[in-house]
Amino acid sequence: MKRALITGVTGQDGSYLAELLLEKGYQVFGLRRRTSTPNYENVAHIQDKIEWISGDLTDLASLIEAVRISNPDEVYNLAAQSFVAASWPQPIATGQLTALAVTNMLEAVRIAKPDARFYQASSSEMFGKVQAIPQVETTPFYPRSPYGVAKLYGHWITVNYRESFNMFACSGILFNHESPRRGLEFVTRKVTDGVAQIKLGLATELRLGNLDSQRDWGFAGDYVKAMWLMLQQDTPDDFVISTGEMHTVEELVQVAFDHVGLNWRDYVVIDEKFVRPAEVDLLLGDCTKAKQELGWELEVGFKQLVANMVDADLKRHAGRPVE
Ligand code: GDP
Repeated sequence: MKRALITGVTGQDGSYLAELLLEKGYQVFGLRRRTSTPNYENVAHIQDKIEWISGDLTDLASLIEAVRISNPDEVYNLAAQSFVAASWPQPIATGQLTALAVTNMLEAVRIAKPDARFYQASSSEMFGKVQAIPQVETTPFYPRSPYGVAKLYGHWITVNYRESFNMFACSGILFNHESPRRGLEFVTRKVTDGVAQIKLGLATELRLGNLDSQRDWGFAGDYVKAMWLMLQQDTPDDFVISTGEMHTVEELVQVAFDHVGLNWRDYVVIDEKFVRPAEVDLLLGDCTKAKQELGWELEVGFKQLVANMVDADLKRHAGRPVE
């Protein structure tokens, strides 16, 4: 039985990855930080199948202990301060959790289980003010937020540990990936949740920021398969994971409102509060390398993804169970 340690297991990606690994027969260990108000919503259905280990990304001793206890074949580092907009008001915490904590995880693995395979959750936000369209693994980076800057550190320290210590460390450069488990502050989920509330008469408007930015949005459940595939190869490497399709925030809004038969222009209000100090205008990934070398394939397209998310939010607000 293979053993995997996941940080960030209660988040969107962690929950899909834990499901995938449990299906494959892995023993799954999840790192959890003590809080007085724990949130296991995303993993409630598999909570008793995960072996929980207490630890904190900023506490190296606890991470070494977590690696020692789990004795993992594979480590997936998904935990971070993951919301771009929050990285301006909290730049230092973002640096500690999204950047430096990656070194803590790599050190814990190097010290306690150096032959474990390591996955780092890198991000298309590293491309920021894009230097080429579409973006591939070799496109120069130009981050546009404290979050993007922090993720760039995490990416390079992962590459550096691979080159310095010959560790099997991979960086997955994932473009935006969404699902009904996405945090409510991200634009996709904010929109699908808002549409569901408006449809059910629970809200009358949806306040948003910049509708012109363009993103390459895929389904998180497809993307965690790519993480696993990266760690099954003969040699460690870095991969872009994306759909290769780009849509504006406005298109997202339109598709979501259309799905419930409403006209978005009747409900969307532009609120400067949600406009960012610096914007990433467009992200579009070319994942040819992942398709060719990993055999990775995407299953859920943009419209289907948005429809699934609206349907899930309709169910949730109507008090029915969501898968
Ligand atoms: P990101 O690509 O990781 O920053 O993912 P988000 O889902 O947070 O944002 C995607 C894009 O939607 C960005 O260009 C935001 O500026 C834009 N956007 C427009 N209105 C909103 C809003 O109300 N909330 C969020 N989160 N993003 C918004």
